[in-house]
Amino acid sequence: MRLTVWTYEGPPHVGAMRVAAAMEDIHFVLHAPQGDTYADLLFTMIERRPSRPPVTYTTFQARDLGSDTAEIFKRAVAQAYERHRPEALIVGASCTAELIQDDPGGLATALALPVPVIPLELPSYTRKECWGASETFYRVVSTMLGGQDRPQPRVRSDGEPATCNILGPTALGFRHRDDVAEVRRLLTLLGVGVNVIAPLGMRPSDARRLPQADFNIVLYPETADTTARWLERKFGQPPIRTVPIGVGATREFIVEVAGAAGVDPTPALEDGALRLPWWSRSVDSNYLTGKRVFVFGDATHAIAAARVAAEEMGFSVVGLGAYNREFAREVREAAARHGVEPLITDDYLEVERRIAELQPELVLGTQMERHVAKRLGIACAVISAPVHVQDFPAHAAPQMGYAGANVLFDSWVHPLAMGLEEHLLGMFRDDFEFNDAAGPSHLSGERTANVEAQATAAAAAPDDGPAHSHSAGPITWTGEAEKELRKIPFFVRGKARRNTEAYALAEGLTTISVETLYDAKAHYTR
Ligand code: SF4
Repeated sequence: MRLTVWTYEGPPHVGAMRVAAAMEDIHFVLHAPQGDTYADLLFTMIERRPSRPPVTYTTFQARDLGSDTAEIFKRAVAQAYERHRPEALIVGASCTAELIQDDPGGLATALALPVPVIPLELPSYTRKECWGASETFYRVVSTMLGGQDRPQPRVRSDGEPATCNILGPTALGFRHRDDVAEVRRLLTLLGVGVNVIAPLGMRPSDARRLPQADFNIVLYPETADTTARWLERKFGQPPIRTVPIGVGATREFIVEVAGAAGVDPTPALEDGALRLPWWSRSVDSNYLTGKRVFVFGDATHAIAAARVAAEEMGFSVVGLGAYNREFAREVREAAARHGVEPLITDDYLEVERRIAELQPELVLGTQMERHVAKRLGIACAVISAPVHVQDFPAHAAPQMGYAGANVLFDSWVHPLAMGLEEHLLGMFRDDFEFNDAAGPSHLSGERTANVEAQATAAAAAPDDGPAHSHSAGPITWTGEAEKELRKIPFFVRGKARRNTEAYALAEGLTTISVETLYDAKAHYTR
């Protein structure tokens, strides 16, 4: 294992915590050394949950290693059960506890508690957080459904709506809360019922109702894919695999869901929540076309973002990668479609090197890439976990569905628009009304003495008075030409003057007339 300052994923027991913390009435007993309680902070500080995650740590210390750590674990399980009385318990070990080989599953089962005990094998030295979440979700569902056989195919009576399960949202997920709300809204437009959302908000006993749905929506493959495959094998429930991020994917998702439910997709396809037409009319998007974009994140969000960038925003994808190796094949296929080299790594320094090498104009990445992009002076928007406190805004900000597409437009275009403002500031830095010493125009009362002096000089300049000639070194402006120059908006006037003088010098002219001004304009706009 490698110690690092930054990491895209935590150890697998953090993934298990994300599932436990998302659920209701479940408790996780983690055999772990004292320091591991840090993981609580991810949930209380980053996600700002009102309560601690439902986890009991054994918090053994170095001195306990010489004695009976198995006894410490059994005591912790018994106490956690007595205190919380959950519907089910999950038990596992963190990295250090894994080395002690105490067998949490066997020890907890030996206590013969009156609730299901779900043992987790979390190989901390080979697997990480996303895998841990997926494995935990699968273990909870398969244990709770253990004895159930395949139900008879459900025959819906006339008018009875089709139902589905929404699989994958967890605690500490990137915009999961808001994505679920938007997907539910689309399902309502289609007249499709939601049977169980899992694991977010699910009780262990709710897992027993999963087979009642007509199909499963695999909202976050990183967490839900294994479980969805198992449900398909065991109960014949078809999975919907299109992840509705972006307008195109949302439409595909709606058509796929409507097909599985046997309903008309039109009400959802024509939903007015999409503001793309308004956005396209109201934004001069020409300057966005062809912007060079580097995309990195978890596989699902990175693949979706690259597709939206290329097909919906007109950007050019120059790099694509993901940190979770379980989905490397999907990322490689997507990279091939965009004609770029895939980057599959969990080393943020390697990602930083690739960004520096490619010099994109926009980075779509995780909080890690946000820091990297800031250091390199490149615009950036966050599209994926690992999450940061900013990724839990008070307002709804989904990534999925039409509402999510609106959020993508805003959050990707604004950093570029800021970049444009910087560019304008650079261009007009030398203009007397727009230079570094000049205060903001809306604070004209606070201008520096220097600027006041410049303004006074400008007022006395020929522009305000009758037209007469003005000399700039070897070049002389006729009064008429100066008057014409004053018609140009102030913020481009300095540049127009410099360009015209450069043109006159190149042409061997010493006097700038109105004709010279227009010839120079024609020359530079050619
Ligand atoms: S046991 Fe693993 S997760 Fe816990 S502090 Fe040690 S290295 Fe980190």
